[in-house]
Amino acid sequence: MRLLIMGPQGVGKGTQAKLIAEHYGIPHISTGDIFRYNMKNETPLGLEAKSYTDKGQLVPDELTNKIVKDRLAMDDAKNGWILDGYPRNASQVEALDKMLEELGTPLDKAVALDADRDTLLARIAKRSAEEGRADDNAEAIAQRLKTYDEQTAPLLDVYKKRSCLVSIDGEGDIDKISQKIFDALD
Ligand code: AMP
Repeated sequence: MRLLIMGPQGVGKGTQAKLIAEHYGIPHISTGDIFRYNMKNETPLGLEAKSYTDKGQLVPDELTNKIVKDRLAMDDAKNGWILDGYPRNASQVEALDKMLEELGTPLDKAVALDADRDTLLARIAKRSAEEGRADDNAEAIAQRLKTYDEQTAPLLDVYKKRSCLVSIDGEGDIDKISQKIFDALD
């Protein structure tokens, strides 16, 4: 199973992606997690990404596409994966299409989660209090939601036109949401 999970910050993408990964026995590949790991360990990639992520801006495509390409080429990704937080703009869709064509492994589905803006802001505030993410400050949050609206939300139409899109309501109970996703994918 090769899946994307898409949706605005705070919708529960990461939580659902982990459950989907467990359910299908595939790796959960989160570009945000890869950047956070590298920032924590102060690698050259982390140091370069930090100036963007701290402000809630997208890390440049060239860098982001390369980490995804390298990750998809790893052994554990041979039989499937769920990509969380990628692609986030039209040029990343193009780059992913090219990677998948080269690997000869088409995408199965793009799972789109959505929720009211108030729900999103409440969840981001809760996560911020629990995890203290550097980019969960008011300015960066506003910037991330703006970037999502302008660059990422239009991608849903691309996958809809390819008959790949599965849209799921992200409000409510975590287990009920995952059940809806499994029902739609099975
Ligand atoms: P996330 O955990 O998915 O919200 O990602 C945290 C931050 O990592 C984002 O605000 C971006 O700065 C960066 N990031 C994650 N995924 C991407 C991507 N596909 N393209 C560019 N930047 C990204």
